[in-house]
Amino acid sequence: MPDLVIRGGTVVLSGGSVRADVAVEDGRIAEIGPELAGASHEFDARGLFVLPGFIDVHVHFNEPGRTHWEGAATGSRALAAGGGTLFFDMPLNSTPCCVNAREVDRKRAALERASITDFGLWGGLVPGAVSEMADMAGRGVVGFKAFMCDSGLPEFPRADDETLRDGMAEAARLRLPVAVHAESHDKVRLPANRAVRDFLESRPVVAETEAIGRALEFARDTGASLHIVHVSTGRGVLLAAEARARGVDVSIETCPHYLWFTEADVERLGAIAKCAPPLRAAEHREALWNALIAGHVDIVGSDHSPTEPSMKAGDFVGAWGGIAGVQSTLPVLVDRGYHDRRLPLERIAYLVAVHPARRFRMARKGTIEPGNDADLVLIDTVSSFTLSEEHLQQRHKISPYIGETFRGVVRATLRRGETIFEDGHVTAQTCGRFVRPNAL
Ligand SMILES: [Zn+2]
Repeated sequence: MPDLVIRGGTVVLSGGSVRADVAVEDGRIAEIGPELAGASHEFDARGLFVLPGFIDVHVHFNEPGRTHWEGAATGSRALAAGGGTLFFDMPLNSTPCCVNAREVDRKRAALERASITDFGLWGGLVPGAVSEMADMAGRGVVGFKAFMCDSGLPEFPRADDETLRDGMAEAARLRLPVAVHAESHDKVRLPANRAVRDFLESRPVVAETEAIGRALEFARDTGASLHIVHVSTGRGVLLAAEARARGVDVSIETCPHYLWFTEADVERLGAIAKCAPPLRAAEHREALWNALIAGHVDIVGSDHSPTEPSMKAGDFVGAWGGIAGVQSTLPVLVDRGYHDRRLPLERIAYLVAVHPARRFRMARKGTIEPGNDADLVLIDTVSSFTLSEEHLQQRHKISPYIGETFRGVVRATLRRGETIFEDGHVTAQTCGRFVRPNAL
């Protein structure tokens, strides 16, 4: 007898959606079909869609070392409330940064104690540390993150061209991807003054497209797998998509804030909506949506990057850049994608689960099929909610999405069969597990 049957939902499978029950046994999906036999525990999912759990490939939970900014305990709860079951933590802004095997071990141990969702870890690619990559690969990192401009943290310096090229060659040998923050150091200027407009103009679109073009050339030369994080413009997406059509192994990520907000919102909200690359003009948001609808975006990740309130106060240019959106990523896609643009839920599942699992070689994750982990999110697409501080599970209740109304509500999140979030409450009883890419 299964431990759990999720009864009567519309199950979003890669090939299409079906009305079916999902039986769960020992944390895995045992069977999908109509009228499955009873279980000790049943979940009434009539009227709900059942999707694979959100795999957020891009978060900064800042643990160990900066848990006063977020931490995996609160960050993973926010992820669960947003329908997520697995995250990959970036090598910064934990401290020390995760740039060698010792720090990978330290972070893994800390997150095994704190996280309620499963997790993987990114290693860092910084100047002088290419020789550390093999050991980090041995520890099971999902890939290596590099910055093509100042990262905002002196202890995580940008990768110059030589580091980036050497790092990609090494990553290709290790058969792991390199993720780049693609803004060109040479094209990011010092803000002329201290206002919002000065900041926005200091990080122009060309800084992104130039950096993407250069990273694509290095990937082509070295044969590396390239993952471009947080692409903020349709132009950037198309540039990478063209290279992919010519054979470059590249995946393209964008974030919910570029799909929801524009630079007018930065003017309105201030530093709460400050990030890099910055939010763009409305025409860029539209072009980004068009590129996504056309199928050129592979992955949507949150780039959840919170800090403490004092770091967001005062002078705009000096304020910390980073948007806390881990809980809002799926709601953004359901509201503006599914409802406004008829983006099928199968495509949303592809962007937040199917492709993340495939790209980063997560066995038994990302799709709803027998034998896979029962990582699931139950979504009510009919109801809506207005996000308030009380909803937020993150450490500091700071988010540009507060006050925004979303059509679509996450009713429950299950991680390996355990209900970790239900009807507004975190219900997890056990901790998440470290996951690593499966061998090729
Ligand atoms: Zn980031």
